[in-house]
Amino acid sequence: MATPLHFVSSKVYPRLTGGRFNTVRIAFVVITQLLYFGLPWLNWDGQQATRFDFDSMRLYLFGLTLLPQDFIYLAAALIVAALGLFLWTMLAGRLWCGFSCPQTVYTEIMIWIERWVEGPPNQRRKRDAAPWGAEKVLRKGSTQLLMAAFSLWTGLTLVGYFTPMRELAANLGAGDIGVWEALFALSYGGFTWLLAGVLREQVCKHMCPYARFQGAMFDRDTLLVAYDDKRGEPRGARRKQHAIIPIAANVGRDDKPQGACVDCGLCVQVCPTGIDIREGLQYECIGCAACIDVCDEVMDKTGQARGLIRFSTQHAMEQQQPLPSLRQRPRALVYSGLLLAIVALSATGLALRVPFKVDILRDRAVMQRESNDGYIENVYNVRIMNTERDSRRYQLQVESAGLVRVEAPPLQVAGDSVTSFNVALVADPALLPSGSHTVSVRIVNLDDPSQVLHEEARLLMP
Ligand code: SF4
Ligand code: SF4
Repeated sequence: MATPLHFVSSKVYPRLTGGRFNTVRIAFVVITQLLYFGLPWLNWDGQQATRFDFDSMRLYLFGLTLLPQDFIYLAAALIVAALGLFLWTMLAGRLWCGFSCPQTVYTEIMIWIERWVEGPPNQRRKRDAAPWGAEKVLRKGSTQLLMAAFSLWTGLTLVGYFTPMRELAANLGAGDIGVWEALFALSYGGFTWLLAGVLREQVCKHMCPYARFQGAMFDRDTLLVAYDDKRGEPRGARRKQHAIIPIAANVGRDDKPQGACVDCGLCVQVCPTGIDIREGLQYECIGCAACIDVCDEVMDKTGQARGLIRFSTQHAMEQQQPLPSLRQRPRALVYSGLLLAIVALSATGLALRVPFKVDILRDRAVMQRESNDGYIENVYNVRIMNTERDSRRYQLQVESAGLVRVEAPPLQVAGDSVTSFNVALVADPALLPSGSHTVSVRIVNLDDPSQVLHEEARLLMP
């Protein structure tokens, strides 16, 4: 049975590779990390651009303040993320895993650290197998120290998405970080170190749930990294003098016809999950394309066409056809249409959203009462939540004016806060019969009259 120790002992030492996909992967590492580490430091309109405040249950997003009442947008964002993942997986297979999954990105960074401190894979393998000595302790200790520092930084950054980042940094500098913040940073940092620094490819192979349910989203036109066995086999070392002749004339050392694969094994050596892509489609393949890069180099050196290992689909490989277009994939069109519709609806909703909320509740302690001039008053508790940064004034207006009027001055609510007011609705008993009436109330932001909300109140007449 596979144990954690077994995972660690079966460590893969991927060989460094260059190439176009490697450049794209590095670009993804840089972009995702710039976003992750940079966003909590970015201020927007005088406050942290992205932060979720647990105390007030508010999400601050580039000047927008979302409240629990705006849950619909969070739900829409989750649906878009899920549909996007389905669509992307159906089209591009495990491209997400190979290029932008946090596990891949952090593993890549940990391998950079390891390579920087301990040298290339061969040296690392030898050192790992050698008995402990001063040099090994120093190198391995330095690697772990750097990995732990980086992991802790990821943990602290995550805390910065929930607590003001600049305050957190100042508190950290003063050695005054809160217990929960410290625990949160240590837990997340610890997981980063464990998953990316220790377990690495074992997470993709044995723990990742996404890898398990991908099969349900794949079809025969899903993009994957594939070895062209029709072109590559029979594989084998090549006679030197034939190294640069065209593939059709390839001949092996034993003078038998030979495919394009020279059996150099480099595609296995660069693979971060340690598999041999020539054995066919395997669930351990994360689609990182390192084997494509290295095999292309081999093809260049042996004077053969690139693409012995390439991004393709099962269909295209079997029938040696070009990749299908989006139009030939109705399921992709349905997913794309749904995605676009939800994004358009959410964007419209957000654009039209009024940045304040109002609750009008009857004051149960005060039943309707008669004023000195013979009118009937109903008292309400009006709770206004201003989600903008600046103070705002609101005016209540009754839509059935003439029958009922509001007795309240403009209601001032400080920025980013909630205030309750007692407001009376006054009706003439000569015009409204006794019983319960629904009154429509219009609430206008006097500082921006385009912002209007409509609420209803129950009015009781004796
Ligand atoms: S890198 Fe290419 S040529 Fe070398 S073993 Fe792999 S498939 Fe064959
Ligand atoms: S087989 Fe190729 S694409 Fe798949 S994980 Fe290994 S190197 Fe990456």
